[in-house]
Amino acid sequence: MRGSSMTDIGAYNEKLVLQMIREAPEGIGQAEVVRRSNLSRQAVSLITRRLLAEGLVETAGRQVSGRGKPTTLLRVVADSRLAIGVHLDPAYVSVVVCDLLARPLAGTRLPAPSADPAQDIRQIGEAIDQLAARIDAVRPPQQPGQGRNGRRLLLGVGIAAPAALDSTTGVVIDPPWIPGWRNVAVVDALQAATGLPCLLDKDTNAVLTGEIWTEHLPSDETVLYIYVGHGVGSAVSGGRQVHRGGTTQAGEIGHLPIGRADCRCTCGRHGCLSLYTDALPLMERAREAGVHLPADTPVPHAMEAIGKSAGAGHPGACSVIREHGAALGEALQILVGIHDPDRIIVGGPTWMHLREHGMPPIREALAEWRQQGRAEPDSSRLGNEAGAVGAASLFLDQELAPETPTAAAGQPVGRPVAAV
Ligand SMILES: [Zn+2]
Repeated sequence: MRGSSMTDIGAYNEKLVLQMIREAPEGIGQAEVVRRSNLSRQAVSLITRRLLAEGLVETAGRQVSGRGKPTTLLRVVADSRLAIGVHLDPAYVSVVVCDLLARPLAGTRLPAPSADPAQDIRQIGEAIDQLAARIDAVRPPQQPGQGRNGRRLLLGVGIAAPAALDSTTGVVIDPPWIPGWRNVAVVDALQAATGLPCLLDKDTNAVLTGEIWTEHLPSDETVLYIYVGHGVGSAVSGGRQVHRGGTTQAGEIGHLPIGRADCRCTCGRHGCLSLYTDALPLMERAREAGVHLPADTPVPHAMEAIGKSAGAGHPGACSVIREHGAALGEALQILVGIHDPDRIIVGGPTWMHLREHGMPPIREALAEWRQQGRAEPDSSRLGNEAGAVGAASLFLDQELAPETPTAAAGQPVGRPVAAV
């Protein structure tokens, strides 16, 4: 039996019915679930009874329409199961506990990953314990049938980190700007520290999964996400599946040449995107433009200061953010041609400080490039906790989405198998 904390909610049809109910927060009748899922009435009825018994779903009153019998509405019990998200950002470690709709119920920030990963992981484990206690969340039962109907049951932990990493073995390999974390088996270590199943994925994949989960994005959309943090990255999904590539490294756009020749990159080429969009060169340009940034200002604070300066009308700050956006716009001209997205989302840990002045040049670049195009870029609504919320969404997605690649392939590699 799968050792996940999701007890018996493993079958595709059950996940599908739960998805229908979860995506109708105001409540949905069984007949409508039958219509949307294409399952038989009997199957939906059976599954619904089971979800009610598991405490994942509750009745939410009756709806009268026309002259027919009133319909009993079903609604997800959002806090019946919880997932933890851990985002390893070069500047901090963010930990959140999210409900089934990936809404954060509690969260905290820890200092930046250090040169002692074992100690960092211990602190993450302690933070998870404290957050769980604060919101009265409990661990999964160790015995079958024990306390399964309880609320606030912790499912497990999703960890989002910068590439390079190996999601199948749960190892952070060589993340930029986190020099102390080389070949760290974070999944094994955090499982040992918390007793909860853990999984690891790239930060860009996490934030896109967070969008799919929180915004209930339609399954027929191709979505392109541009991640803005210490560095830039991208992620693409189709049919609600994030495209991870052969080794989970898809979407590394930092060395995408955007047609400029004024800067030479460490990779030896000219005009790589990251030269114009990474946080550290942006801070340098802001200083040169007269924004007051002491030498030891951490990246998140610096981005906030640059954003605030621009908001107050500082011409230098406005200009450097516009240049940043213009470079992203040039990259998007190329990426939109490659991926033909229905939806473009720009987000990530530092984007909320840059979006006001950074988004217009992106829109301008796309408008001038496209002959036709339907996708207008929008900023993520998840703010600067997008990474942690996305990490929690990774776990929810693995456990509860009806069509995850890992579910299709059977037992996911690198995911724990604990006897239940
Ligand atoms: Zn380069």
